[in-house]
Amino acid sequence: MANEPHSLRVEGVVLSHREMGEADRLLVIYTREHGKLRAIAKGVRKLHSRKAGHLQPFSRAKIMLARGRDLWIVTQAEVIDASLLLQENLESMAYALYVIELLDRFTYEEGANPALYQLLVKTLHRLAEAAQPEMVLRFYDLRLLDLMGFRPQLFNCVGCGNVIKAEDQYFSAVQGGVLCPRCGHDTASAQPVSMHALKYLRHFQRSRYEAAMRAPYHPGILKEMDQVLQYYFLFLLERHLNTPGFIHRVQHEHPEPDQGLGDSTEK
Ligand SMILES: [Zn+2]
Repeated sequence: MANEPHSLRVEGVVLSHREMGEADRLLVIYTREHGKLRAIAKGVRKLHSRKAGHLQPFSRAKIMLARGRDLWIVTQAEVIDASLLLQENLESMAYALYVIELLDRFTYEEGANPALYQLLVKTLHRLAEAAQPEMVLRFYDLRLLDLMGFRPQLFNCVGCGNVIKAEDQYFSAVQGGVLCPRCGHDTASAQPVSMHALKYLRHFQRSRYEAAMRAPYHPGILKEMDQVLQYYFLFLLERHLNTPGFIHRVQHEHPEPDQGLGDSTEK
């Protein structure tokens, strides 16, 4: 502990918070400089707390931390990006929660990953602007896999090594990529993936964001991509994510505004 600094100045996005004791809050923050950190914001639930009362999930802020006995303590916080907080409806909120959950599940308190921090910030902005949030999410899935070292092999069969042809294939989570029909047929754990979904997965994997978003919007293909990626995530994380179910409910049940989370505004 002797070599560790007594204070840190960081920029970060709040991933989650939970109440602690009478007035404090435990925050999980993904920072640009040090990766994931946990910190206590003291007295935030008292009225007019200036330090950290505005540190809500999705807020991007400059934060000063002091070393406490066990955890970092927030001593100052300045929100620099309030636009990430403007989750106007339940559906946008569900998409943003997905982004945060996926990053949270893949990361530990293991140090900085500036590229991942950039991806997080950019994705939250893209969700606020994009016409097709599901396209943004699938692009995010593939980039996150790259940055976590789990880039799926989509161009050669992970069984025999042959170049994948334009036909329906299989995807193996265990082997981390596509299996040709011949190899996939004999692999019980492999999941079928159509030629169209594979085309989109490849396009998203090797394109820059703007180019990826020019692909025609196709709900059926996006749904299949989602299924393949969730199957891969389930294998890598060894448990289901919570937010895809929430997204599904929000998309299909169209809850009334006053049944949403917290305040809602009529449009
Ligand atoms: Zn093969």
